[in-house]
Amino acid sequence: VNAPLADRIAVVTGASSGIGAATARRLAADGARVALLARRVDRIKELAAEISGLAVEADVRLQDSVLAAARTVRGELGRPDLVVANAGVMLPAPFDTSDTAEWDQMISTNVNGLLYTSRAFADDLLAAAAEGRTADLVHVSSIGAHVVFANYGVYGATKAAVSHLSRILRAEFGPRGLRVHNLEPGLVTTELGDTMEDRGQFEALAEWRERNQSLPATDIADIIAFSTALPRRVNIADLVVLPTVQG
Ligand code: NDP
Repeated sequence: VNAPLADRIAVVTGASSGIGAATARRLAADGARVALLARRVDRIKELAAEISGLAVEADVRLQDSVLAAARTVRGELGRPDLVVANAGVMLPAPFDTSDTAEWDQMISTNVNGLLYTSRAFADDLLAAAAEGRTADLVHVSSIGAHVVFANYGVYGATKAAVSHLSRILRAEFGPRGLRVHNLEPGLVTTELGDTMEDRGQFEALAEWRERNQSLPATDIADIIAFSTALPRRVNIADLVVLPTVQG
């Protein structure tokens, strides 16, 4: 049996669709016990049943919700040693006409949610590392963290925050044996952006994905599984993963 992640206890936020769902599935296939966090409970329950995982309802924008989910995970599975902070929203629009409620949604999910997630599990991850076990914190950022895309101002700013936070956490946690990975995908075909208000942007995104042969979410999941299964001395620290055609 090929089980490079046997004995690992994983948490994936945003596991109800897209990259998170694919990652949960792949980590489980590689032998990890996986907790699936998201708001759409029906979705995570269905996937948890399929992969013998644990579905935990959580809204990452709310610190109490994340802390409660972390307690549930610890109680049901034990201390996690692999956390994928993946939950995110992307709501592009021209800066001058955008609905600022969408800014708040992106900032509270992509920045605050990722901070709350990383903090809620930091003690678990550091404890695993201190015991000499492999421990991984994966931040799902975006190519938008460092490439300029018009109309993606606030989204890009949230992802730039994620990427830079990852580097700083690496400086704090690396010496303590905890790997921090910052992953910056390019175009991936998921439900991301499905709820954006600006339908013109929505059409543009669909066309952009089509033209660039946007990746299936399983490609990103494979890379997360690969990176977290490497020997603990080596860290794929910052990784940009693009469809070849996106260039
Ligand atoms: P999806 O929309 O398919 O998935 C987003 C996930 O985030 C869902 O599971 C959703 O679950 C979850 N989520 C959103 N808000 C919250 C919240 N408040 N609390 C808990 N979970 C939440 O998109 P992707 O799979 O594409 O997105 C995953 C990550 O990948 C995001 O961070 C995104 O920015 C990043 N990314 C995606 C790219 C792409 O092209 N698709 C490119 C680069 C980065 P629910 O709604 O059930 O809570």
